[in-house]
Amino acid sequence: MNKASRLFWPTLVTPKNAVVKPTEQLSRSQKLLTELGLVKAGSNGTYQIMPIAQRTIDKCIQLVQRNMQAAGGQKISLPVLTPAQLWKKTGRLDGDISEFYMVRDRSGKQFLMSPTHEEAVTAMLASAAPISYRQLPQRLYQIGPKFRDELKSRFGLMRAKEFLMKDMYSFDVSLDAARQTYATVTAAYERFFRQLELPFVRVEAASGIMGGSQSHEYHFISPVGEDTLLQCSNCSYAGNTEVFGNEADAPSTCPSCQSAQLSRVRGVEVAHTFLLGDKYSKPLGATFLNTSGKPEPLVMGCFGIGITRVIAAALEVLSTEQQLRWPKLLAPYDVCVIGPKAGSKEQASAERIEHELLNQLAQICGAEQLLHDERKELTIGKRLLDAQRLGHPLTIVVGAKATQLEAPKLELHTSGSEKLELEVAEVLQLVTQHEQHKQQLLQSQLEETNSEQQQEQKRFGHVH
Ligand SMILES: [Zn+2]
Repeated sequence: MNKASRLFWPTLVTPKNAVVKPTEQLSRSQKLLTELGLVKAGSNGTYQIMPIAQRTIDKCIQLVQRNMQAAGGQKISLPVLTPAQLWKKTGRLDGDISEFYMVRDRSGKQFLMSPTHEEAVTAMLASAAPISYRQLPQRLYQIGPKFRDELKSRFGLMRAKEFLMKDMYSFDVSLDAARQTYATVTAAYERFFRQLELPFVRVEAASGIMGGSQSHEYHFISPVGEDTLLQCSNCSYAGNTEVFGNEADAPSTCPSCQSAQLSRVRGVEVAHTFLLGDKYSKPLGATFLNTSGKPEPLVMGCFGIGITRVIAAALEVLSTEQQLRWPKLLAPYDVCVIGPKAGSKEQASAERIEHELLNQLAQICGAEQLLHDERKELTIGKRLLDAQRLGHPLTIVVGAKATQLEAPKLELHTSGSEKLELEVAEVLQLVTQHEQHKQQLLQSQLEETNSEQQQEQKRFGHVH
């Protein structure tokens, strides 16, 4: 079980008269994450993740992996350093390279600290023995750090110079098959975002430096968002104004149905998908042998989710000025338990109830999902304030009322700041419901992917 007294939790106290630059206040999630000691700023534009926030990152990774595996993904790891030579071959060093981190080894050979891995993974496929059409599709993904020397890194984790990405690269025999992969993987993306229970929108996007024929972005809606999105309420059209060159050139009527019911919202991009075709496989010579034994370029797609960005953006959308709020599946802990203060007259009897409660909770949600705030030198009020700012889905207080002879009561605080006085059995019931809700979110995925896999199996005649 996790003990609050043992946590490395370097809270930051901002002096009352401190001058805070307005730009630093634009993101409330970043402000809370820093003040609460979940994240520390490293050198300009990089961040140190402290233990509480690391739990959320690990949970996010697990959830993304479940969905990638369900979409036929296989996990790999590619080096952070990619030879610059590969990027010369695809022409991507000819454009603006000011955002790339370039390093040289002792022989003078140049490498990129990769912002993305199309070249690296495609070169790997090219160097593999001739791949047969029978081995396709392949959907390879990794989760690791990416680097971009942002001119303006801001909003903390939302736009950092080093960030955590899940990137998947797919290889198919034809554009038709690649479209099928695109549909399967984007369905997994939508499932992932639904599991976070946050409003998101998928928009048509500009392909930018990736190139390729088709591209979509996933956005959380937030005023902090740097993109302006168009949403039609008459049809299902949604697009990024980037597609039209700039915001001013964006149409005032829906490009799809011509209706005038087109609204503009700000979005935070959290994921991006591309149908790449042979843009990378051709210059890098990544081929497969077709049914007549002739080599043909592999048809590719690539699919990114910004792990740290998803978390920062979710917190930005859900949190209040004073309190963090987490998607249920990503909260660092499910339940926080606060016991009596040391030296209070109810201490001994309340502690007996507290320990019995902790045992029962561990049965319901697992000891690993419990945070026991046993800093008994602090008042209940002080610890409750910390718990509420951290935004635990459920916080249970075992105080004086728990020891009264008639109708003993515990306090249950939800992350919506709702306070209930309940009997132990009722509290356990609500914790059980919370766990069941989480299980349902995960379960819905299993059912959907089983039926998707059956459909694909019919299509390709084999299982991935
Ligand atoms: Zn429309």
